[in-house]
Order: sequence, then structure tokens, then C-alpha cells
Amino acid sequence: MDVVTIGESMAVFSPESSPLMRYAATYSRKFGGAESNVAIGLTRLGHEVGWISKVGNDELGKGLLSFIRGEGVDVSQVKISETAPTGLYFKEVRSANNVRVEYYRKGSAASQLSVNDLDESYIASAKFLHITGITPALSESCYETVMQMISIARENGVKVVFDPNLRKKLWSEERAREVLLEIAAKSDIVMPGVAEGEFMFGENDPDKLGELFLNHGASLVVIKVGAKGAYYFTKEKSELVPGFPVEQVVDPVGAGDGFAAGVISGLLDQLPLNKAVERGNAVGALATQIPGDFEGLPTREEMDHFMYATDSEDI
Ligand code: ATP
Repeated sequence: MDVVTIGESMAVFSPESSPLMRYAATYSRKFGGAESNVAIGLTRLGHEVGWISKVGNDELGKGLLSFIRGEGVDVSQVKISETAPTGLYFKEVRSANNVRVEYYRKGSAASQLSVNDLDESYIASAKFLHITGITPALSESCYETVMQMISIARENGVKVVFDPNLRKKLWSEERAREVLLEIAAKSDIVMPGVAEGEFMFGENDPDKLGELFLNHGASLVVIKVGAKGAYYFTKEKSELVPGFPVEQVVDPVGAGDGFAAGVISGLLDQLPLNKAVERGNAVGALATQIPGDFEGLPTREEMDHFMYATDSEDI
């Protein structure tokens, strides 16, 4: 296994007959979740990825599982809850900068994940463990499960990659800050946006944030700055890796997940750091071009074409 991740995926309903949920009478249904988006992104780039989760013994849970399995992600560690349902959320895209979500996930099957659901050897078999700040926000048992996975990873030489993915709707700011800092301290690689860094350290200058995260425990810090690209910082070096220009953002949600998939893919391929971050920028940019959280995530061929093809090759 190249990468193991853990998190909740849900049925996602988007209004169709009106862009606003309050007026829409019809909705389209997809499936989504940050960690499974990253898993799908990495699988499309040719890596072997396992996604740990729990779904309800219900129709949406069955659909969700077969969808993620169909993308080629290993779902052998996904458990089925007989007592709690698969979570849902509604997503309203008012404009590229105004996306609203409403969750129906409290008490969901995934929020029941516990340390008993973990197979140590499965986690130990990976090269990277991908963690987001969403999973520990779901419940106390999810928090314990994430911390246990990080311990297993550290004991077995599996590198921990952490995307804070702050979701203020899921927990109090105090608890969020405390846990995000706790996980960042135990991670090898952290990939926050500037706003998340500011939330955690009260600082919004990328250079200062890079230093703060390095001093906090990470050996590689990657700070996302939207269309501008991303900075990376190690003890030895730091650099801004410029983003890829796109004509128009169709749907910004999922850019961060695509970015994470691209950077991890580059690290798995042992690219130099600037090239790994460049790959993250490319996948993040492509993710903004297609509506949906994971639809825009490219195959390796599509990514290479976007990064390296010249116009004349398009003709
Ligand atoms: P998300 O909304 O998915 O949580 P995020 O806030 O974590 O995203 P962003 O900084 O918005 O992360 O985007 C992640 C990466 O995707 C950026 O660092 C950049 O590489 C790429 N990206 C995002 N928006 C654009 C854009 N408008 N043009 C080009 N690249 C973009």
C-alpha cells in the first residue's frame, strides 16, 4: 500500500432546479469526502491507496462503498454499522467564492469509528498515512482513532501527512485549535492554507508560518496560497512554487484535496520537493475546472498533458 487514509464520506446533494437549496425542488446526488477525494486522486495517478471508514447498512452506504471501490481504492478496511446511518450533506455553489454546506452527519456511522476498527499491520504496510483535521472532529472515538493511527505510523516508519482542513461547523474553536496543533506536532508533513495557519498560530505571513510549523515538529511544511500556488519549507530550504493559471474557476471545492494528492504522488515518485509541489499545484488547478469535488481529479496522462503539453500538441 502506498497511502492509507481515514475519514467520512457522505452522500452529497446539490440543488438543481434552483441554485439555492431553499427553492430547489430537485437535487443531484453524488458522493464525497475530503479523504476519499485524496484517495481517488492518488489512485487516478496510479498509486495504491486504502481508505478506512464506516458506512451505514443502508442504500446510500452501499452506493458510496461501491463508488469508491469502483475508483480503485482499497475499501477492505471499511466497516458497516448496523446502528447508525451514512451521513449526508447539501452543497450550494452560489458563486466560485461562495459555497455553502449543510451537514446531516451527527451520529453518523463514520462518527462511530473507534480504535477497534484498526488493523495495525494494514497501517504499517503503507508509505504514507494521510490525516485531515476533519476526522478527529467527528467524535471523541474518531479523535482517539486518529491519534492511535498516528502512533502506529510513527512506530512503523510510515510518514504522517496532515492537512488541517479546518471545519468550524464541526467543533468548538478551542478544541479544534488544540487538536490541530497536537496532530501537527506529530506529523512529518503538514499542508495548511494560510487561513488555517493563522487559526492555529495567529500568524498569516507564509514565511513565519513555515518556520512556526517546522519548529512545532514537521520536517516539511507546504502552505497553500490558492491561485498563486504554494510555498514549501524545510530546515534547509524554502520556495514559492507558482500555481498554474486557469481561465475560470468552475468549482473551488476539492482543490485542496487534489493538491494533497498531487504532492503525495510526487513524494511517492521521489521527485524533488519543488516538483512534488508543482504536481500538487497542477492537480489542485485541474480540480477547480470541473464541477464536483473529485470529478476534476486527473489521471496521470491528463495531469502530464496539463503540465507539459504545448498548444500545438492539442491540434
Ligand atoms: P479546499 O477549498 O479544497 O479546502 P484549500 O483552501 O485547502 O482548498 P486552496 O489554496 O484553495 O486550498 O487550493 C489548493 C491548491 O490548488 C492551491 O495551492 C493551488 O495549487 C491550486 N489552486 C486553487 N485555486 C486555484 C486557482 N484559482 N488557480 C490555479 N490553481 C489553484
